[in-house]
Amino acid sequence: MRRPVIAANWKMNKSSEEAEAFLDAFAPLWTDRSVEVVICPSFVSLERVARAASAVGLAVGAQDVYWEPQGAFTGEVSAEMLVKAGCAYVVVGHSERRKLFNELDQDVGNKAHSALLRGLSPVICVGETMDERRAGLTEEVVERQLRLAVRSVQREQASRLVIAYEPVWAIGTGVTATPSDAALVSREIRSLLDRFLGPGAGEEARVQYGGSVKAGNIAGFMESLEVDGALVGGASLDPAQFADLVNNSLSLREKE
Ligand code: PEP
Repeated sequence: MRRPVIAANWKMNKSSEEAEAFLDAFAPLWTDRSVEVVICPSFVSLERVARAASAVGLAVGAQDVYWEPQGAFTGEVSAEMLVKAGCAYVVVGHSERRKLFNELDQDVGNKAHSALLRGLSPVICVGETMDERRAGLTEEVVERQLRLAVRSVQREQASRLVIAYEPVWAIGTGVTATPSDAALVSREIRSLLDRFLGPGAGEEARVQYGGSVKAGNIAGFMESLEVDGALVGGASLDPAQFADLVNNSLSLREKE
């Protein structure tokens, strides 16, 4: 069984002090421990958050990584550095990085590869813009992004992959995909992984939905067993709101 995973993408928010205060407030409110929770603060807070997070059973992820192991790459951070700072995850290919920082599909593949090589699980973001959706290109876009993102991934690494389906038009807008759309694209992502990595890969990888997920709508997305969790931006910044979101996430799933 795949363990559900909800990741908090804090983007460029919270100082180290604020991050630690969040953890102090969140930990006692987080009751559903069957869900793995990953906090992704800014680079400068990683070590401090990782120390506090491990004490309360939270995992930590970075929001980006550079694929070279070291050298003259001013401003960049390697996968090895992230592991040493206490990370288990790293987000790659977020649409904000693709749009604002010109990140290419090939870059996302290099980042995912270097993350896996160093023992990190990449959270690979894929998803279409509104124009692409209107033009009926959702499948084509997701297929291209995913093919290039996993081009150096080995079959045996599939269980360490997290793929976040994040329609760009739903990020930070308050508008979401429907739960059935999210389940449909998640299913497609699994069959693409089978095609790119080998049979069974899609069943091993975890697939999240992201885009304006909140405490009030998470359960609808995660009712489907195709959707293993969520990547959450805005609603992950407040500890009480985020704890509600995590604790509500499996409320519509049939109990085994
Ligand atoms: C995100 O940034 O990945 C995201 C899904 O943001 P929000 O939850 O705010 O839409």
